[in-house]
Amino acid sequence: MSKIRLSVVAPCYNEEAVLEQFVQRLSKACADATDFYEILLVDDGSSDRTWSVIEGLADQDHRIAGIQLFRNHGHQLAVTAGLSIAKGERILLIDADLQDPPELLSAMMAIMDEGADVVYGKRISRAGETTFKLLTAAAFYRLLNRLSSVPIPQDTGDFRLMSRPVVDILVAMPEQHRFIRGMVSWIGGRQVALPYARDARFAGSTKYPLRKMISFALDALTSFSTKPLRAAVWLGLMSSLFAFAILAYAVYQWSAGNVVPGWASSLVAISFFSGTQLFVMGVFGEYLGRVVQEVKRRPLFTIGQIRRKTVATEISGDIRDLQTTVENYQASQGKRASQ
Ligand code: UDP
Ligand code: MG
Repeated sequence: MSKIRLSVVAPCYNEEAVLEQFVQRLSKACADATDFYEILLVDDGSSDRTWSVIEGLADQDHRIAGIQLFRNHGHQLAVTAGLSIAKGERILLIDADLQDPPELLSAMMAIMDEGADVVYGKRISRAGETTFKLLTAAAFYRLLNRLSSVPIPQDTGDFRLMSRPVVDILVAMPEQHRFIRGMVSWIGGRQVALPYARDARFAGSTKYPLRKMISFALDALTSFSTKPLRAAVWLGLMSSLFAFAILAYAVYQWSAGNVVPGWASSLVAISFFSGTQLFVMGVFGEYLGRVVQEVKRRPLFTIGQIRRKTVATEISGDIRDLQTTVENYQASQGKRASQ
């Protein structure tokens, strides 16, 4: 019975326009690397024809499986759903929009043959991105690395090849707010960068509008640093000192017989301090909201169905029976909920 050497996990959200081309290029790259691979296409609650395209692909090739989430859970959770089902000894994470060239797989495999635990793509150029996205991303990673005790490489996405032990640890990390590239850095081991030129999207449009980018950045900051909480304390302390200074000044003026007309300065002080307080409360709130969501211990994602051809093949012995996969998943979620 042969083992699956390589699993590929690709999250797909409204990607009907790219999927066929993507799977064609990816399948070729996989076949060049090994005969025993599987491609897991995770449909993250798409509203276009993505799922029916995936069904068609899965029905044609037993190495391709479709995993349909009940609803849109977001990129990072869609990836997690795929990782939790992947069986391979090595696992490639790749976007479905062909921004990450599947042809780099062989180079990644070669680096892993030499003992790397993770090989991550490092973008030396990024075609088709707006200047705004490039500038904000650069500033964000600088800030994140300043705040986080785990170094998180710049100019990387989730495009990476990981070994089985790394993926096992990643899947076992229970957090809801997942910043996968940071979590992989946290795991450690030998992590090697592979520089590459990132292409423009093959078709379709980005699924990361500004709103999602901001919330992703906040997830990253709050998951990898509690320094903003400490900064809030310092800010509060400094504001109080400032208030005391104003008080001392007012007392001095009063004792010198000067009646301070000062309504303007009071107003400035009041708005300054209420602003500071609201800001500090906002920082607390960002963390508190995430704590609330973590303590609920909800499942990270909801798998609606898995589509995979269950023909007997030489590798079928290692492919989990579909029904068992779904049952195991449901049982584990039940256990999680009752803990
Ligand atoms: N994606 C997803 N769920 C989402 C948003 C995106 O599964 O809610 C997938 C998307 O289909 C793509 C990958 O995540 O395969 C990266 O998204 P996208 O290319 O839109 O992001 P960008 O490259 O523009 O940052
Ligand atoms: Mg993209």
